[in-house]
Amino acid sequence: MDNTDQTFSDRLEQVEQRIAEACAKAERARDSVRLLAVSKTKPPEAIREAADYGLRLFGENRVQEAQAKIPLCPDGLEWHLIGHLQTNKAKLAARLFQMVHSVDSMKLLQALDAHADVTLPVLLQVNVSGEAAKFGMTPDEVAGVIEAANRMQKVEVHGLMTIPPFSPDPEKTRVHFAALRDLRDRLQDETGTPLPELSMGMSHDLEVAIEEGSTWVRIGTDLFGKR
Ligand SMILES: *Cc1c(COP(=O)(O)O)cnc(C)c1O
Repeated sequence: MDNTDQTFSDRLEQVEQRIAEACAKAERARDSVRLLAVSKTKPPEAIREAADYGLRLFGENRVQEAQAKIPLCPDGLEWHLIGHLQTNKAKLAARLFQMVHSVDSMKLLQALDAHADVTLPVLLQVNVSGEAAKFGMTPDEVAGVIEAANRMQKVEVHGLMTIPPFSPDPEKTRVHFAALRDLRDRLQDETGTPLPELSMGMSHDLEVAIEEGSTWVRIGTDLFGKR
């Protein structure tokens, strides 16, 4: 959708309406889904405008970009890392972000635990589609990582995240969202660890993600315009 002519207020209203309708259709409470405003590549002015409309939760995919931008943005915002993180940037990431959605290896989890000063909620990124060349652990790896996390000091696993292969037809993505939810249900039983959060759904497929149980939709383009 080319929404570059619209105001931020129009775009936000449309996204909010889509979320509300998807929640109603799925018979879920509106407040069971949070909107993460994905501000990657957008300047601090865009973030300030979003904050003026009441948005508080922002997602960035690169540590260095966030490091430069966060000091220029209003106080009181929450920053979530949604992109691949190299272990050697874990220390910086643990300081900048209040939550990491994209923990894709045991090594990274250990590095975040070692460097976090306060409790750091994380989500484990899982490659449920089995596509090569994608970040994310395999479904088989996740139970072991959760059990290791339960013995760590600072990181707390709150759930799972996935980025499915792109399809212009959101219905084709449903199977991957459902797979993440089923994996979560199975892991909760297996490990006894509550995993309430599912970070799934982007601009073009948020409805399907909400119908399949998403608790965090990560929306960039449909809020801020094309990148
Ligand atoms: C960029 C990005 C998004 C937002 O994508 P849009 O299609 O612009 O809404 C969501 N999640 C991740 C991990 C991203 O990198």
